[in-house]
Amino acid sequence: MPGFELFGDLERKEVNDVLDNGVLMRYGFDGMRNGHWKAKALETELSTTFDTKHVQLVSSGTAAVSVALASAGVGAGDEVIMPTFTFVASFEAIMMLGAIPVLVDIDDTLTLDPKAVEAAITPKTKAVMMVQMCGSMGDLDAVQAICTKHSLIFVEDACQAIGGTYNGKPLGSIGDLGCFSFDFVKTITCGEGGAVITNNKDYYINADHYSDHGHDHVGNDRGAETHPFLGYNFRISELNAAVGLAQVKRLPEFIAIQKRNYTILRDAIAQIPEVTFRTVPEGGEESYAFLNFFLPDLESARKVSKAFKEHGIDVCFHYYDNNWHYVRKWEHLKTQKSLFPLSSEIKKGLENLQHQTFEQSDHFIGRNISCLIKMSWTVDEVNERASKMVDAIKTSI
Ligand SMILES: *Cc1c(COP(=O)(O)O)cnc(C)c1O
Repeated sequence: MPGFELFGDLERKEVNDVLDNGVLMRYGFDGMRNGHWKAKALETELSTTFDTKHVQLVSSGTAAVSVALASAGVGAGDEVIMPTFTFVASFEAIMMLGAIPVLVDIDDTLTLDPKAVEAAITPKTKAVMMVQMCGSMGDLDAVQAICTKHSLIFVEDACQAIGGTYNGKPLGSIGDLGCFSFDFVKTITCGEGGAVITNNKDYYINADHYSDHGHDHVGNDRGAETHPFLGYNFRISELNAAVGLAQVKRLPEFIAIQKRNYTILRDAIAQIPEVTFRTVPEGGEESYAFLNFFLPDLESARKVSKAFKEHGIDVCFHYYDNNWHYVRKWEHLKTQKSLFPLSSEIKKGLENLQHQTFEQSDHFIGRNISCLIKMSWTVDEVNERASKMVDAIKTSI
Protein backbone atom coordinates (compact mmCIF):
# COMPACT_ATOMS: atom_id res chain seq x y z
CA MET A 1 0.00 0.00 0.00
CA PRO A 2 -0.50 2.49 -1.58
CA GLY A 3 -0.68 1.74 -5.31
CA PHE A 4 0.10 5.31 -6.37
CA GLU A 5 3.73 4.69 -5.43
CA LEU A 6 4.11 2.66 -8.60
CA PHE A 7 2.06 4.65 -11.14
CA GLY A 8 3.55 4.22 -14.61
CA ASP A 9 2.95 3.90 -18.33
CA LEU A 10 0.08 1.45 -17.99
CA GLU A 11 -1.97 3.93 -15.93
CA ARG A 12 -1.18 6.76 -18.37
CA LYS A 13 -2.18 4.68 -21.39
CA GLU A 14 -5.55 3.71 -19.91
CA VAL A 15 -6.38 7.31 -18.92
CA ASN A 16 -5.34 8.65 -22.33
CA ASP A 17 -7.66 6.14 -24.00
CA VAL A 18 -10.54 7.76 -22.15
CA LEU A 19 -9.47 11.33 -22.86
CA ASP A 20 -8.88 10.57 -26.53
CA ASN A 21 -12.55 9.85 -27.13
CA GLY A 22 -13.85 12.13 -24.40
CA VAL A 23 -16.53 9.93 -22.79
CA LEU A 24 -15.99 10.23 -19.05
CA MET A 25 -19.27 8.53 -18.12
CA ARG A 26 -19.46 4.78 -17.69
CA TYR A 27 -22.97 4.42 -19.17
CA GLY A 28 -24.31 5.42 -22.58
CA PHE A 29 -22.71 7.41 -25.44
CA ASP A 30 -22.06 4.14 -27.28
CA GLY A 31 -21.34 5.85 -30.62
CA MET A 32 -18.67 8.18 -29.26
CA ARG A 33 -16.55 5.87 -27.17
CA ASN A 34 -14.73 3.79 -29.79
CA GLY A 35 -15.35 0.62 -27.87
CA HIS A 36 -13.79 1.90 -24.63
CA TRP A 37 -15.71 0.74 -21.58
CA LYS A 38 -13.21 1.09 -18.73
CA ALA A 39 -15.65 0.53 -15.86
CA LYS A 40 -17.10 -2.57 -17.52
CA ALA A 41 -13.60 -3.89 -18.29
CA LEU A 42 -12.54 -3.30 -14.69
CA GLU A 43 -15.63 -5.12 -13.39
CA THR A 44 -14.77 -8.12 -15.58
CA GLU A 45 -11.15 -8.06 -14.39
CA LEU A 46 -12.21 -7.82 -10.72
CA SER A 47 -14.65 -10.69 -11.14
CA THR A 48 -11.67 -12.90 -12.08
CA THR A 49 -9.37 -11.43 -9.40
CA PHE A 50 -11.94 -12.05 -6.67
CA ASP A 51 -13.28 -15.30 -8.07
CA THR A 52 -16.79 -13.84 -7.73
CA LYS A 53 -19.61 -13.78 -10.28
CA HIS A 54 -20.75 -10.18 -9.98
CA VAL A 55 -18.95 -6.90 -9.46
CA GLN A 56 -20.48 -3.42 -9.23
CA LEU A 57 -18.07 -0.51 -9.28
CA VAL A 58 -19.06 2.54 -7.25
CA SER A 59 -17.63 5.93 -6.33
CA SER A 60 -15.86 4.97 -3.07
CA GLY A 61 -15.37 2.26 -0.48
CA THR A 62 -17.85 4.03 1.81
CA ALA A 63 -20.38 3.98 -1.03
CA ALA A 64 -19.61 0.28 -1.54
CA VAL A 65 -20.64 -0.49 2.05
CA SER A 66 -23.86 1.55 1.77
CA VAL A 67 -24.72 0.02 -1.61
CA ALA A 68 -23.96 -3.51 -0.38
CA LEU A 69 -26.21 -3.11 2.65
CA ALA A 70 -28.98 -1.38 0.65
CA SER A 71 -28.84 -4.13 -1.99
CA ALA A 72 -29.45 -6.72 0.69
CA GLY A 73 -32.41 -4.74 2.04
CA VAL A 74 -30.83 -3.22 5.16
CA GLY A 75 -32.50 0.06 6.13
CA ALA A 76 -34.27 2.14 8.75
CA GLY A 77 -34.06 0.71 12.26
CA ASP A 78 -32.10 -2.40 11.29
CA GLU A 79 -29.07 -3.16 13.42
CA VAL A 80 -25.72 -3.87 11.78
CA ILE A 81 -23.00 -5.37 13.95
CA MET A 82 -19.53 -3.91 13.32
CA PRO A 83 -16.17 -3.84 15.11
CA THR A 84 -14.85 -1.08 17.42
CA PHE A 85 -11.66 -0.94 15.36
CA THR A 86 -12.25 0.18 11.77
CA PHE A 87 -12.39 3.40 9.77
CA VAL A 88 -15.25 5.84 10.52
CA ALA A 89 -16.64 4.96 7.07
CA SER A 90 -18.17 1.81 8.57
CA PHE A 91 -20.72 3.55 10.76
CA GLU A 92 -21.20 6.39 8.27
CA ALA A 93 -22.24 3.92 5.56
CA ILE A 94 -24.65 2.15 7.92
CA MET A 95 -26.25 5.34 9.26
CA MET A 96 -26.73 6.77 5.77
CA LEU A 97 -29.38 4.10 5.25
CA GLY A 98 -31.09 4.88 8.54
CA ALA A 99 -29.69 1.68 10.01
CA ILE A 100 -28.06 1.43 13.44
CA PRO A 101 -24.37 0.59 13.92
CA VAL A 102 -23.89 -1.80 16.85
CA LEU A 103 -20.25 -1.76 17.95
CA VAL A 104 -18.71 -4.92 19.39
CA ASP A 105 -15.30 -5.95 20.72
CA ILE A 106 -12.44 -7.17 18.61
CA ASP A 107 -10.03 -9.99 19.52
CA ASP A 108 -6.34 -10.61 18.76
CA THR A 109 -7.13 -10.87 15.02
CA LEU A 110 -7.89 -7.10 15.28
CA THR A 111 -11.42 -7.60 14.04
CA LEU A 112 -14.74 -9.06 15.25
CA ASP A 113 -14.62 -11.42 18.19
CA PRO A 114 -17.22 -14.10 17.26
CA LYS A 115 -18.34 -14.35 20.91
CA ALA A 116 -18.99 -10.61 21.02
CA VAL A 117 -20.95 -10.85 17.76
CA GLU A 118 -23.22 -13.57 19.10
CA ALA A 119 -23.80 -11.67 22.34
CA ALA A 120 -24.87 -8.53 20.43
CA ILE A 121 -27.59 -10.17 18.34
CA THR A 122 -31.14 -8.89 18.96
CA PRO A 123 -34.41 -9.35 17.04
CA LYS A 124 -33.48 -6.17 15.10
CA THR A 125 -30.09 -7.44 13.89
CA LYS A 126 -30.05 -7.70 10.11
CA ALA A 127 -26.39 -7.92 9.16
CA VAL A 128 -22.89 -8.49 10.48
CA MET A 129 -19.99 -6.61 8.94
CA MET A 130 -16.48 -7.92 9.38
CA VAL A 131 -13.80 -5.36 8.59
CA GLN A 132 -10.59 -7.04 7.45
CA MET A 133 -8.35 -4.42 9.00
CA CYS A 134 -4.73 -3.72 8.10
CA GLY A 135 -4.29 -6.50 5.56
CA SER A 136 -5.60 -9.43 7.57
CA MET A 137 -8.85 -11.05 8.67
CA GLY A 138 -10.97 -12.40 11.48
CA ASP A 139 -12.34 -15.87 12.08
CA LEU A 140 -14.55 -15.97 8.99
CA ASP A 141 -15.80 -19.53 9.50
CA ALA A 142 -17.01 -18.73 13.01
CA VAL A 143 -18.78 -15.50 12.03
CA GLN A 144 -20.28 -17.08 8.94
CA ALA A 145 -21.68 -19.91 11.08
CA ILE A 146 -23.27 -17.36 13.43
CA CYS A 147 -24.82 -15.52 10.46
CA THR A 148 -26.21 -18.76 9.03
CA LYS A 149 -27.62 -19.81 12.40
CA HIS A 150 -29.40 -16.47 12.93
CA SER A 151 -30.25 -15.80 9.23
CA LEU A 152 -28.14 -12.65 9.09
CA ILE A 153 -26.51 -11.06 6.07
CA PHE A 154 -22.72 -11.36 6.22
CA VAL A 155 -20.81 -8.42 4.73
CA GLU A 156 -17.03 -8.20 4.41
CA ASP A 157 -15.32 -4.83 4.27
CA ALA A 158 -12.04 -5.85 2.64
CA CYS A 159 -11.00 -2.28 1.75
CA GLN A 160 -7.64 -2.69 3.51
CA ALA A 161 -7.01 -6.31 2.64
CA ILE A 162 -7.18 -6.62 -1.14
CA GLY A 163 -5.08 -9.62 -2.15
CA GLY A 164 -5.41 -11.45 1.18
CA THR A 165 -6.95 -14.94 1.20
CA TYR A 166 -8.77 -17.32 3.54
CA ASN A 167 -8.72 -21.05 2.79
CA GLY A 168 -7.55 -20.12 -0.70
CA LYS A 169 -10.44 -17.72 -1.33
CA PRO A 170 -9.91 -13.98 -1.87
CA LEU A 171 -10.94 -11.85 1.11
CA GLY A 172 -14.19 -10.10 0.21
CA SER A 173 -15.51 -13.15 -1.64
CA ILE A 174 -16.50 -15.17 1.43
CA GLY A 175 -19.46 -13.24 2.86
CA ASP A 176 -22.77 -12.61 1.07
CA LEU A 177 -21.32 -9.34 -0.16
CA GLY A 178 -17.78 -7.92 -0.16
CA CYS A 179 -16.68 -4.29 -0.29
CA PHE A 180 -13.49 -2.69 -1.60
CA SER A 181 -12.06 0.81 -1.75
CA PHE A 182 -9.67 2.10 -4.38
CA ASP A 183 -9.12 5.48 -2.73
CA PHE A 184 -5.75 7.16 -3.00
CA VAL A 185 -4.06 5.28 -0.14
CA LYS A 186 -5.24 1.74 -0.88
CA THR A 187 -3.15 -1.08 -2.42
CA ILE A 188 -5.00 -0.67 -5.72
CA THR A 189 -5.97 2.95 -6.26
CA CYS A 190 -7.93 4.81 -8.89
CA GLY A 191 -8.06 8.14 -7.03
CA GLU A 192 -11.57 7.59 -5.69
CA GLY A 193 -13.60 4.44 -6.25
CA GLY A 194 -14.89 1.22 -4.77
CA ALA A 195 -16.55 -2.07 -5.58
CA VAL A 196 -19.27 -4.38 -4.30
CA ILE A 197 -18.78 -8.05 -5.10
CA THR A 198 -21.31 -10.86 -4.69
CA ASN A 199 -22.33 -14.24 -6.04
CA ASN A 200 -25.98 -13.37 -5.39
CA LYS A 201 -27.59 -12.22 -8.63
CA ASP A 202 -30.44 -10.34 -6.95
CA TYR A 203 -28.06 -8.36 -4.75
CA TYR A 204 -26.00 -7.57 -7.83
CA ILE A 205 -28.97 -6.31 -9.85
CA ASN A 206 -30.01 -4.19 -6.87
CA ALA A 207 -26.49 -2.74 -6.59
CA ASP A 208 -26.34 -2.05 -10.33
CA HIS A 209 -29.63 -0.13 -10.31
CA TYR A 210 -29.34 1.51 -6.90
CA SER A 211 -25.90 3.02 -7.59
CA ASP A 212 -27.27 4.74 -10.74
CA HIS A 213 -30.56 6.40 -9.68
CA GLY A 214 -32.49 3.14 -10.12
CA HIS A 215 -31.72 2.84 -13.85
CA ASP A 216 -32.51 -0.67 -15.08
CA HIS A 217 -29.72 -0.49 -17.71
CA VAL A 218 -31.87 -2.19 -20.37
CA GLY A 219 -31.31 -1.02 -23.97
CA ASN A 220 -29.20 1.95 -24.98
CA ASP A 221 -31.50 4.91 -24.45
CA ARG A 222 -31.05 6.15 -20.88
CA GLY A 223 -34.16 8.32 -21.07
CA ALA A 224 -36.30 5.31 -21.93
CA GLU A 225 -34.97 3.08 -19.16
CA THR A 226 -37.35 2.27 -16.33
CA HIS A 227 -36.77 2.72 -12.61
CA PRO A 228 -38.02 -0.38 -10.80
CA PHE A 229 -37.14 1.18 -7.42
CA LEU A 230 -35.57 4.29 -5.89
CA GLY A 231 -31.87 4.77 -6.34
CA TYR A 232 -29.05 7.19 -5.75
CA ASN A 233 -25.84 8.25 -7.51
CA PHE A 234 -22.75 6.31 -6.50
CA ARG A 235 -21.33 6.01 -10.03
CA ILE A 236 -17.62 5.78 -10.79
CA SER A 237 -16.25 7.78 -13.73
CA GLU A 238 -14.41 6.28 -16.69
CA LEU A 239 -11.26 8.23 -15.78
CA ASN A 240 -11.11 6.64 -12.34
CA ALA A 241 -11.97 3.22 -13.70
CA ALA A 242 -9.17 3.52 -16.28
CA VAL A 243 -6.56 3.99 -13.54
CA GLY A 244 -8.03 1.07 -11.61
CA LEU A 245 -7.89 -1.14 -14.69
CA ALA A 246 -4.15 -0.53 -15.03
CA GLN A 247 -3.56 -1.06 -11.32
CA VAL A 248 -5.56 -4.25 -10.83
CA LYS A 249 -3.52 -6.01 -13.50
CA ARG A 250 -0.49 -5.36 -11.30
CA LEU A 251 -1.99 -6.78 -8.09
CA PRO A 252 0.19 -9.94 -7.99
CA GLU A 253 3.31 -7.79 -8.40
CA PHE A 254 2.12 -5.41 -5.65
CA ILE A 255 1.38 -8.23 -3.19
CA ALA A 256 4.78 -9.82 -3.83
CA ILE A 257 6.56 -6.53 -3.05
CA GLN A 258 4.46 -6.02 0.10
CA LYS A 259 5.25 -9.57 1.22
CA ARG A 260 9.00 -9.10 0.68
CA ASN A 261 9.11 -5.83 2.67
CA TYR A 262 6.78 -7.12 5.41
CA THR A 263 8.85 -10.27 5.91
CA ILE A 264 12.11 -8.36 6.39
CA LEU A 265 10.55 -6.12 9.04
CA ARG A 266 8.74 -8.95 10.79
CA ASP A 267 11.77 -11.23 10.97
CA ALA A 268 13.78 -8.40 12.51
CA ILE A 269 11.37 -7.41 15.26
CA ALA A 270 10.38 -11.02 15.98
CA GLN A 271 13.80 -11.33 17.71
CA ILE A 272 12.56 -9.07 20.50
CA PRO A 273 10.98 -11.31 23.17
CA GLU A 274 8.46 -8.65 24.30
CA VAL A 275 6.99 -8.31 20.78
CA THR A 276 4.08 -10.52 19.69
CA PHE A 277 2.05 -10.47 16.49
CA ARG A 278 -1.63 -10.33 15.63
CA THR A 279 -3.29 -13.71 15.15
CA VAL A 280 -4.00 -14.68 11.55
CA PRO A 281 -6.72 -17.36 11.53
CA GLU A 282 -5.74 -20.81 10.32
CA GLY A 283 -6.08 -20.97 6.55
CA GLY A 284 -5.56 -17.21 6.25
CA GLU A 285 -2.88 -15.37 4.33
CA GLU A 286 -2.43 -11.65 4.84
CA SER A 287 -2.15 -9.14 2.00
CA TYR A 288 0.96 -7.81 3.76
CA ALA A 289 -0.33 -4.24 3.48
CA PHE A 290 0.54 -3.63 7.16
CA LEU A 291 2.69 -5.24 9.83
CA ASN A 292 0.82 -5.34 13.15
CA PHE A 293 2.44 -6.18 16.44
CA PHE A 294 1.72 -5.95 20.15
CA LEU A 295 3.83 -4.55 22.99
CA PRO A 296 3.35 -5.81 26.55
CA ASP A 297 1.17 -2.86 27.69
CA LEU A 298 -0.29 0.52 26.73
CA GLU A 299 2.59 2.44 28.24
CA SER A 300 5.26 0.59 26.25
CA ALA A 301 3.22 0.96 23.04
CA ARG A 302 3.05 4.73 23.60
CA LYS A 303 6.79 4.83 24.23
CA VAL A 304 7.56 2.82 21.10
CA SER A 305 5.25 5.03 19.03
CA LYS A 306 7.09 8.11 20.31
CA ALA A 307 10.51 6.52 19.74
CA PHE A 308 9.55 5.64 16.15
CA LYS A 309 8.74 9.29 15.48
CA GLU A 310 12.02 10.40 17.06
CA HIS A 311 13.98 7.89 14.97
CA GLY A 312 12.28 9.09 11.78
CA ILE A 313 10.30 5.87 11.31
CA ASP A 314 7.13 7.08 9.58
CA VAL A 315 3.85 5.38 8.58
CA CYS A 316 3.51 3.48 11.90
CA PHE A 317 0.31 4.07 13.83
CA HIS A 318 -0.78 3.62 17.45
CA TYR A 319 -4.49 3.53 16.70
CA TYR A 320 -5.45 3.83 20.37
CA ASP A 321 -4.51 7.52 20.18
CA ASN A 322 -5.76 8.07 16.60
CA ASN A 323 -8.99 9.99 15.94
CA TRP A 324 -10.27 8.03 12.96
CA HIS A 325 -9.93 4.30 13.50
CA TYR A 326 -10.91 3.44 17.05
CA VAL A 327 -14.10 3.96 19.06
CA ARG A 328 -12.23 5.71 21.91
CA LYS A 329 -11.99 8.97 19.93
CA TRP A 330 -15.35 8.86 18.12
CA GLU A 331 -16.91 11.60 20.25
CA HIS A 332 -18.95 12.89 17.31
CA LEU A 333 -20.66 9.50 17.03
CA LYS A 334 -21.14 9.03 20.77
CA THR A 335 -22.67 12.50 21.21
CA GLN A 336 -24.56 12.31 17.89
CA LYS A 337 -23.16 15.49 16.37
CA SER A 338 -25.11 15.55 13.13
CA LEU A 339 -25.71 18.46 10.75
CA PHE A 340 -29.30 17.31 10.35
CA PRO A 341 -31.81 15.56 12.62
CA LEU A 342 -31.16 11.83 13.04
CA SER A 343 -34.08 9.41 13.11
CA SER A 344 -35.41 8.48 16.52
CA GLU A 345 -34.32 4.86 15.91
CA ILE A 346 -30.70 5.85 15.32
CA LYS A 347 -30.76 8.22 18.30
CA LYS A 348 -32.05 5.52 20.57
CA GLY A 349 -29.76 2.90 19.08
CA LEU A 350 -26.67 5.00 19.76
CA GLU A 351 -27.65 6.01 23.31
CA ASN A 352 -25.69 3.20 24.97
CA LEU A 353 -22.48 4.13 23.23
CA GLN A 354 -21.96 7.21 25.44
CA HIS A 355 -21.25 5.07 28.47
CA GLN A 356 -20.28 1.74 26.97
CA THR A 357 -16.73 0.52 27.60
CA PHE A 358 -14.74 -1.87 25.45
CA GLU A 359 -12.04 -3.27 27.74
CA GLN A 360 -11.24 -6.20 25.50
CA SER A 361 -10.73 -3.93 22.48
CA ASP A 362 -8.65 -1.52 24.60
CA HIS A 363 -6.49 -4.46 25.63
CA PHE A 364 -5.56 -5.15 22.01
CA ILE A 365 -5.61 -1.70 20.39
CA GLY A 366 -3.84 -0.09 23.35
CA ARG A 367 -0.85 -2.41 22.82
CA ASN A 368 -0.92 -2.50 19.03
CA ILE A 369 1.39 -0.75 16.59
CA SER A 370 0.46 -0.92 12.93
CA CYS A 371 3.09 -0.17 10.30
CA LEU A 372 2.12 0.50 6.71
CA ILE A 373 4.19 -1.45 4.19
CA LYS A 374 5.28 0.74 1.30
CA MET A 375 5.98 -0.68 -2.12
CA SER A 376 8.51 1.95 -3.21
CA TRP A 377 11.06 0.97 -0.53
CA THR A 378 14.20 -0.77 -1.80
CA VAL A 379 15.47 -3.85 0.04
CA ASP A 380 18.31 -1.75 1.48
CA GLU A 381 15.84 0.82 2.76
CA VAL A 382 13.71 -1.87 4.38
CA ASN A 383 16.76 -3.42 6.08
CA GLU A 384 17.78 -0.02 7.42
CA ARG A 385 14.24 0.61 8.65
CA ALA A 386 14.17 -2.81 10.30
CA SER A 387 17.31 -2.15 12.34
CA LYS A 388 16.07 1.32 13.31
CA MET A 389 12.76 -0.21 14.46
CA VAL A 390 14.55 -2.83 16.54
CA ASP A 391 16.71 -0.16 18.20
CA ALA A 392 13.72 2.07 18.88
CA ILE A 393 11.72 -0.78 20.43
CA LYS A 394 14.60 -2.09 22.54
CA THR A 395 15.48 1.32 23.96
CA SER A 396 11.90 2.19 24.87
CA ILE A 397 10.65 -0.93 26.66
C1 LIG B 1 -10.66 3.22 3.13
C2 LIG B 1 -11.66 2.46 3.89
C3 LIG B 1 -13.03 2.64 3.70
C4 LIG B 1 -13.61 3.75 2.88
O1 LIG B 1 -13.18 3.82 1.60
P1 LIG B 1 -13.25 5.23 0.80
O2 LIG B 1 -13.01 4.79 -0.60
O3 LIG B 1 -12.16 6.11 1.33
O4 LIG B 1 -14.61 5.78 1.00
C5 LIG B 1 -13.91 1.81 4.37
N1 LIG B 1 -13.47 0.85 5.19
C6 LIG B 1 -12.15 0.66 5.42
C7 LIG B 1 -11.73 -0.43 6.33
C8 LIG B 1 -11.21 1.47 4.79
O5 LIG B 1 -9.92 1.30 5.05
